[in-house]
Amino acid sequence: QSKAGPSMPRQRVTAKGTNVPEPMETFQALKERYNLSPQLLRNLSEYGFVEPTGIQSNGIPIIMEHRDLVAVSPTGTGKTLAYLLPIFASLGVPSASSNTDNGTGVRALIVAPTRELAHQIHNECLKLAQGRKWRIILFSKATANALADKNVRDRVDIIISTPLRLVAAMQHGNVELSNVRHLVLDEADRMLDSEFIDQVQEVVAGCTHKKIQKAVFSATLPSGAEKIAMDMLHDPIRIVVGLKDT
Ligand code: ADP
Ligand code: MG
Repeated sequence: QSKAGPSMPRQRVTAKGTNVPEPMETFQALKERYNLSPQLLRNLSEYGFVEPTGIQSNGIPIIMEHRDLVAVSPTGTGKTLAYLLPIFASLGVPSASSNTDNGTGVRALIVAPTRELAHQIHNECLKLAQGRKWRIILFSKATANALADKNVRDRVDIIISTPLRLVAAMQHGNVELSNVRHLVLDEADRMLDSEFIDQVQEVVAGCTHKKIQKAVFSATLPSGAEKIAMDMLHDPIRIVVGLKDT
């Protein structure tokens, strides 16, 4: 279903912020710059990700360097991979198989406004996860209940959820966010400055790790929502991708 990179429309990218990392030209460059695993590179080519899109060449190095990011790029430009690839790269190995220094509990959290969207993100995750036993949880009533067991909870690597579902689990003590190192708000225009904002703020506040990296992705970001996003982030870089008409 994925189309190769060259079919992606031409894009114009602007970046603002302090010490913006150099964009990458190819996925291969990630191997030289950040020692990206051969496994992840194989999974990319296996699923037809040949050439990075604008938001990917610019956004991936920013997340790899653990910087906060606001990314605005049109629908269909590959925002999902732009945050998932660096998350998989930085998690390194699944919680269940790591020795000690990663701590326990979920290390990456992706919040999306609808269950349908969370489901699509989960599918994209499964492509990158090939070949390793990652525990990736698409939040639902059933999975939330499974997390009531601390042994299960401690071995989860990535959670994908809607804000309401997640807050409910937080209130029941079924999810522990203090080890989250990567937090993504996807389709943020539908969550910030909307009826979800209190839940989103509660999730952000629950992610208490000192070294957390946060990213906000959206196709559009009205100024009210952008201000809320900027207030949540530390020294953020802002990337805006526009389509060039040819
Ligand atoms: P967005 O979130 O920006 O709307 P998606 O992440 O849903 O876009 O990606 C849209 C489609 O493009 C998906 O089918 C995805 O697999 C595909 N895609 C993403 N990045 C690439 C790439 N570098 N090369 C080819 N296809 C890609
Ligand atoms: Mg998307």
